[in-house]
Amino acid sequence: MSELLTYNLDDRVRAFLGRSPLRMLIGPDRVCAADESTFGVEDPATGVEFARVPSAGASDVDAAVRAAQRAFESWRHCSPAQRSERIHRVADLIEQHGECFAQLDSLDSGKPLANARGYDIPKAVEWFRYFAGWPTKVEDSVIPSPHGRVVFTQRVPIGVVGQIIPWNFPFMMAAWKLAPALAAGCTVVLKPAEQTPLSALYFAQILADAEILPAGVVNVVTGFGSTAGAALVAHPAVAKIAFTGSRETAQKIVTSVAGSLKRVTLELGGKSPNIVLGDVDVAAVAAEVSQAAFLNQGENCCAGTRLYVHEDQFADVVEAVSESARSFRLGPGLDEATTMGPLVSRQQHDRVVSYIEAGVNSGAELVVGGGTTLPSHPRGYFVEPTLFVDANEEASIVKEEIFGPVLVAFPFKTLEDVAARANASEYGLAAGIWTNDLRSAHALASMIDAGTVWINTYNETDPAVPFGGFKASGWGREHGRMSLDNYLETKSVWVNYERSVETSTLARLRSS
Ligand code: NAP
Ligand code: MG
Repeated sequence: MSELLTYNLDDRVRAFLGRSPLRMLIGPDRVCAADESTFGVEDPATGVEFARVPSAGASDVDAAVRAAQRAFESWRHCSPAQRSERIHRVADLIEQHGECFAQLDSLDSGKPLANARGYDIPKAVEWFRYFAGWPTKVEDSVIPSPHGRVVFTQRVPIGVVGQIIPWNFPFMMAAWKLAPALAAGCTVVLKPAEQTPLSALYFAQILADAEILPAGVVNVVTGFGSTAGAALVAHPAVAKIAFTGSRETAQKIVTSVAGSLKRVTLELGGKSPNIVLGDVDVAAVAAEVSQAAFLNQGENCCAGTRLYVHEDQFADVVEAVSESARSFRLGPGLDEATTMGPLVSRQQHDRVVSYIEAGVNSGAELVVGGGTTLPSHPRGYFVEPTLFVDANEEASIVKEEIFGPVLVAFPFKTLEDVAARANASEYGLAAGIWTNDLRSAHALASMIDAGTVWINTYNETDPAVPFGGFKASGWGREHGRMSLDNYLETKSVWVNYERSVETSTLARLRSS
């Protein structure tokens, strides 16, 4: 803890971290791993470990799944109004502890505190509030059917759900997963990323203390993907896996469920094109496309990392984006002056650095950035906002998801040309279009293969708006009604009421 003394932490955060090793939530109990193993949590601004969390094994995951199984019968039959009310109370609880969640996510992931306060945590609350409204509105239908039959559908919760989330927006990702599952009547075992377990464990603590949800409705296990994550995916009592993270892990999950055929939804990465037509206010748009690429240190699945600018404005936009990139202030996330924090881990830092080196070696021109240390924090995982031009479009910095603050800019001439280049990616998560001509914007949007196209905006999300990827960016959509569907099965019930009537009391009464 001592190295955290320099940060201005909320007393509740200090008290929570003071109880390290921290505890998981399994059923009603806040527990260590059965074998008591733990792993360290480090501050990415300094590389110093400041807390320890349980390293769950297969037996801990099994205990959590059983707790979720036990809770399922009561939670699914909780009345829709009660479920709604309880999810609203979870939102209230998060709001009351909003500053703590913001500080923990900033400390754990490195993200600027202002971003966690102004974006991640309000979004988490917004998601719980939106989905709190759904339980009372999931209606079934009666289907037109032959005479003598009534056929109706029922939307029933799928069961115990395993949710595996990444480290880039730790608590927001937890909320995006938990809220729709709870609204649908499912029970959950949540596994946060090993790099960022704190906010999920803090949630586990305050949720258990508040006793808002029946024990076992939400369980939180911390641990490594290859052990805890893999055990959750393989568990026969888990009906569905909801995953956000890398393509490589998604492939392992899909392979693992090939036997059971349990349901899987996947939110994966991207290499999103951000396209500037030749008619924009350069200064204003450059600031936006710079944010689109560098927000959250570029550790953002939607990051607009391929910038295509009409040749008429290419030089001006590149200059203005460079200016904007230089204006970021690097530092620890919890330093209020910081606008770009460190990357999440040594591993992620080294990965991003290797991409920058590969970019330089491929012959691309480094226009700005490229620095991979911060003198004031020599052991922190800092990488400067970095912009390349003149890159070969087959180079790894153009093709692969880097998940760091690295942007590559290209000029283009026509909408058809830029649409083809934008679509020349295995991914299809998001795209941006910037122009004063909405006709061109719509024409281009219709040519782009992506789950989200933002026109004159970027990175906007709303709990009611479907979100997800084309191609290798994922399976399924989250948010809105589609997200509930991920957690519900449809049952069609056929009733032959003529036959029932003939043999029924009513039939006997009529004939007598
Ligand atoms: P990752 O391994 O896919 O991590 C995501 C989650 O999956 C974590 O909770 C992880 O646990 C878990 N996991 C790992 N292996 C698993 C397995 N075999 N079975 C079940 N769960 C497993 O991602 P990463 O290694 O942290 O990041 C690598 C790259 O992924 C990044 O550079 C970026 O390109 C991409 N990424 C994308 C997103 C996104 O939002 N689309 C988010 C994060 C990363 P552990 O934390 O213990 O490994
Ligand atoms: Mg960490």
